[in-house]
Amino acid sequence: MSNTRFEPRVRTLLGPGPADVHPRVLAAMARPTIGHLDPQFIALMDEIKDLLRSAFCTENRLTMPISGPGSVGMETCFVNLVEPGDKVVVCINGVFGMRMKENVERIGGTAVVVADPWGRAIDPNKLEDALRAHPDAKVVAFVHAETSTGARSDVETLVEIAHRHNCLTIVDAVTALGGCELQVDDWGVDAVYAGSQKCLSCTPGLAPISFNERAIERLRARRTPVQSWFMDLNLVMGYWDGSQRRSYHHTAPVNALYGLHEALLMLREEGLEQAWTRHARHHRALRAGLEALGLELIVPEGERLPQLNVVAIPEGIEDATVRARLLAEYDLEIGAGLGDLAGKVWRIGLMGHSSRPENLMLCLAGLGAVLRDLGHIGDLDRALVAVHRQLFG
Ligand SMILES: *Cc1c(COP(=O)(O)O)cnc(C)c1O
Repeated sequence: MSNTRFEPRVRTLLGPGPADVHPRVLAAMARPTIGHLDPQFIALMDEIKDLLRSAFCTENRLTMPISGPGSVGMETCFVNLVEPGDKVVVCINGVFGMRMKENVERIGGTAVVVADPWGRAIDPNKLEDALRAHPDAKVVAFVHAETSTGARSDVETLVEIAHRHNCLTIVDAVTALGGCELQVDDWGVDAVYAGSQKCLSCTPGLAPISFNERAIERLRARRTPVQSWFMDLNLVMGYWDGSQRRSYHHTAPVNALYGLHEALLMLREEGLEQAWTRHARHHRALRAGLEALGLELIVPEGERLPQLNVVAIPEGIEDATVRARLLAEYDLEIGAGLGDLAGKVWRIGLMGHSSRPENLMLCLAGLGAVLRDLGHIGDLDRALVAVHRQLFG
């Protein structure tokens, strides 16, 4: 029987997302629902757009949250900027790059793939070669923070190459936003999409996007209508653009937007750069602890994401057993490997509100103890001291 209230156990979410949602965000979401064309709500929409511009480091007027998960942010970028017959260079170094290719092909475009090994950043030289070989390409798409592998790519360099070859850029910043440096304007990113449930400490279901003037121009110059009615930005802008009389497009998820607003306020209170620094410091602490336990990160130094750490599973240890025990014994969630990395790695996310000292201690102590039970001997004492020194040195 399930006619009882659903009361989930409180977990610590150190997987690839969702991350822990801050109590302030949950409290904001419990406030009274008002009409989505209520003047109060319209003022809130304008504030959210301003706060998002700060988080993306952009002045782009077309900056707003799309109603839907990060995947809807992705589709919004592709359906608006790619037309049937367009050639798009897609850099793939993990699962989320593969989805970009899928988007291009479903639209009727041609995807030219630049493949890099899983766990490595995208190689700018390969992109350069692909663009030389395909001078008719119109768009370059890649993932900033590949959550499936823990690799960070050099957005500034990749965008510079794309622009030299007259391509627009679409960048997946779902895991990047709020967790590591992302400079939409300074780096010249044309279209970018993100998610609410990773480093913003908000609930899943909203996808901040930002388009610059070049991207808007491309949208205006389309030969064909955008195939998706819901994601057609020409229509969505009429709903979110403060300079026009707002017209009904769809019903915004009112309470979810209260949550995003609170999360963005908290990011502003902390300071964007301070948030990046916190993620980097906690990454160093996790790494020091993992090393003492005899565990290795699969991504080479210099290409690692601070907010998502991909750890090789030691010989003889069964992936699912460890994750199930951490969940049952410590209410602690860590992530499994995806795609080619399934069964071979764990993904430890330290995103947003999850990236806290007490979570680092819980993770290292719980993981170290469970591994010892299963016969993997690491130096648990040294691990905890190393974490503490990195945090409070
Ligand atoms: C999580 C994630 C997505 C998808 O976001 P959803 O909210 O799950 O749709 C896309 N790209 C990257 C890099 C992600 O980490």
